[in-house]
Amino acid sequence: MDAATQKTFDDAQKIVFLTGAGVSTASGIPDFRSANGLYTQNRNAEYYLSHRYFVSDPAGFYDFCKKNLYFPDAKPNVIHEKQAALTQQDRAVVITQNIDNLYEEAGTKHLIDFHGNLFNVYCEKCHETVPVEEYLKSRIHQKDNGPLRPDIVLYDEGIKQDDIVNSIKAMQEADLVVIVGTSMKVYPFAGLLDYRNPNAKVIAVNQQLLQFPFAFQMVQEDATKFFDELQV
Ligand SMILES: [Zn+2]
Repeated sequence: MDAATQKTFDDAQKIVFLTGAGVSTASGIPDFRSANGLYTQNRNAEYYLSHRYFVSDPAGFYDFCKKNLYFPDAKPNVIHEKQAALTQQDRAVVITQNIDNLYEEAGTKHLIDFHGNLFNVYCEKCHETVPVEEYLKSRIHQKDNGPLRPDIVLYDEGIKQDDIVNSIKAMQEADLVVIVGTSMKVYPFAGLLDYRNPNAKVIAVNQQLLQFPFAFQMVQEDATKFFDELQV
C-alpha cells in the first residue's frame, strides 16, 4: 500500500465499503454464483435460489442451500476484521452482498446485509425465528410443520425497503467509497454507486480490472494483502 492510499483512509470521515464474494473466498467460502455444474448444466444458482423453486421443490432448495451456501466453520479474515475495526470507530459502514454472517462474527458495528443473512432462519407459515442449527437438521418447523427458510433475498424477491433507504443514506454521506471483492455487476446493489456524493473518492480493490464511467482508483491486487497492510 502506498502512502497516498493510506492517507486517503486516514483523512476519510465516513467510509462506505461495498463488498461481495471476493471478501469471503479468503475464508474458504466459494462464490455460489459459480456453483453451477454441481447440478444440471442448464440450471444455475438463480434457478435454485428463487422463491418459486423453494415452493415447488422444498427438498431440492434445502439441499442446494446446505451444499452450496452454509459453511458454519468459516472464520472472518483480515478484510472483515479491518473493516469491522473502522465501523467500531464510527468511521465506516459496510454494505455487503455476502450472506455468510462473517461480518457479524468480526464484530462489524455498522452493517447492512443487502441480500440478507443465512444464519437468520424463520418459518414462512408462522414467521417465528428458529436457530440455524435447527434448520440445518430439518427444513420443517417442528411446531407447525411450516417450511423453514433462511432470511436471504431470493432472486425473485425484492431487497428490504429499510436496507435500500439506509444504504442510499450511507452512500450520500460517504466521502470515501471502497469497492472490495465484487465486480459490481449485480443489480440493484450495483446501482448504489449512482447515489454516491459526487465529491466522494472511489477506490476499487479487486483482482480483476474494473471499469466504471467515472474517475476512481483501481487497486488491482489481492484484497487480503491490501487490508493486511492498511493501518486502522
Ligand atoms: Zn412455523
